Amino acid sequence: MKPRHVPIRMCVVCRQTSEKKTLLRVVRRPEKDGGGLSVDATGRANGRGAYVCASADCIDKAVKQKRFERSLSVPAAPPNLAEALKALCEQPPSEAPLGAAPL
Ligand SMILES: [Zn+2]
Repeated sequence: MKPRHVPIRMCVVCRQTSEKKTLLRVVRRPEKDGGGLSVDATGRANGRGAYVCASADCIDKAVKQKRFERSLSVPAAPPNLAEALKALCEQPPSEAPLGAAPL
């Protein structure tokens, strides 16, 4: 049995490291798509990403303190970024596709 590699990422606010799947990802869209930030619900979107804990606390701080703008070098985050991230915390992306048998 090989140990499974678990990707670890760091929250841009509290600097705590966690498994990637427990963090929310914000991605900088490629220039050809207009640039700017998007919330990446799948964790697999192309582009440079930054991560934040799935907690209202860290999300609010990240947005207020412009952590995503700084860490991804974009001039401004979309005004609904905090809302979009919080919506994801309430419904964390499921790893298993619909209909998959539970372990
Ligand atoms: Zn955090």
